[in-house]
Amino acid sequence: MALIIDDSCINCDMCEPECPNEAITMGEEVYEIDPALCTECVGHYDKPTCVSVCPIDCIDPDPEHIESQDALLIKYAAITGKLAD
Ligand code: SF4
Ligand code: SF4
Repeated sequence: MALIIDDSCINCDMCEPECPNEAITMGEEVYEIDPALCTECVGHYDKPTCVSVCPIDCIDPDPEHIESQDALLIKYAAITGKLAD
């Protein structure tokens, strides 16, 4: 599933440059994740890299965007034009 940044985000800028899908951008008040671009890092890394770098643990699974591993791989292929390993 896509991930979501909650409103406790301190806009530290750590996650945005780390996202391999460029899914993270500055929103009106805090950073936001585009669910159409977030693959939970499937296809790129073993675990979500934004979660790994966030100093305050404010990035969580988005219950409104639940996707299977296969769906995330298909999304990865659509975004990158590559097949996952
Ligand atoms: Fe980007 Fe990965 Fe975080 Fe999704 S989980 S927003 S793809 S860094
Ligand atoms: Fe916000 Fe965490 Fe991203 Fe920093 S790393 S901008 S606190 S979501």
